[in-house]
Amino acid sequence: MKCYHDHGPNQDRGMRELTWSFFVTLAYFVIEVVGGFLTGSLALLADAGHMLTDVAAIALALFAVLMAHRPATPKKTFGYHRVEILVALFNGIFLWVLVGFIFYHAYYRFFDPPPVKSLPMFIVALGGLAANGLNVFLLARSRHKSLNVKGAFLHAFSDALGSIGACVAGLIMILTEMYFVDALASFLIGFLILYSSWGLIRDSIHILMEGTPFHIDLEEICKALRGIEGVRDCHDIHVWTLTSGMESLSGHLIIEGSHSRQAILEEAHDILERQFNIHHMTLQLEEEDLKKEGADSGP
Ligand SMILES: [Zn+2]
Ligand SMILES: [Zn+2]
Ligand SMILES: [Zn+2]
Repeated sequence: MKCYHDHGPNQDRGMRELTWSFFVTLAYFVIEVVGGFLTGSLALLADAGHMLTDVAAIALALFAVLMAHRPATPKKTFGYHRVEILVALFNGIFLWVLVGFIFYHAYYRFFDPPPVKSLPMFIVALGGLAANGLNVFLLARSRHKSLNVKGAFLHAFSDALGSIGACVAGLIMILTEMYFVDALASFLIGFLILYSSWGLIRDSIHILMEGTPFHIDLEEICKALRGIEGVRDCHDIHVWTLTSGMESLSGHLIIEGSHSRQAILEEAHDILERQFNIHHMTLQLEEEDLKKEGADSGP
């Protein structure tokens, strides 16, 4: 018998949606870069920069999905599930660097705005809106499948808002020739990027810190375990996320010596699977609280 094993089923983690959204985004990135340089619009270039990180993000997410399917090995007993989380964090940080560049250039352009070829800029921005709208549509249905698909969806959504901003800016510049509006739209796009990447960074750091998953209540788990016949108490309960949707638990149960340990374990296993959707657990059964366990053993 192997002493390592696969953790959880190989779920469909949004491969197909990610592939489609990869090609849509890549195509529109090229169009926006060319359009941005030809029209002299920072808003288009900012949008294109964002598109590039989206292309990279989706490529990395696809890579993560592939890696997550690689089986566990004796050296990496959890397999490669965490690659997905690392990728999500890397994406988020890269986006913040990009926003720094956008803000820097938008600031100077706001006070000294160069002219923008407004009509072609408007047309390219309109196409960007269509591409992002398509992305939102593609990813909306499967955004709950994993953190990366959720991240890609939030991206596409904020990109769509950014494209609306760019369209409005183009329209205003066509009508009034007030070119500082291009810088304003760039600021808007920058803030949207910050907003959409914040949740991604927060969630992935929480998982890397082995934080208790947001939807899990440790008190509830303890209460359910104490309800098992023969269980007096529980302590040192840890629940953490391996990768989005895959939780692990470890904990100690204090039991009556007269009860079958096997029966208690089986019932605890059942409760954790059915009620809390936790499929990987390690439980330690104690008849007395171990003297050696210090105050640092946690909840
Ligand atoms: Zn295991
Ligand atoms: Zn984006
Ligand atoms: Zn204990």
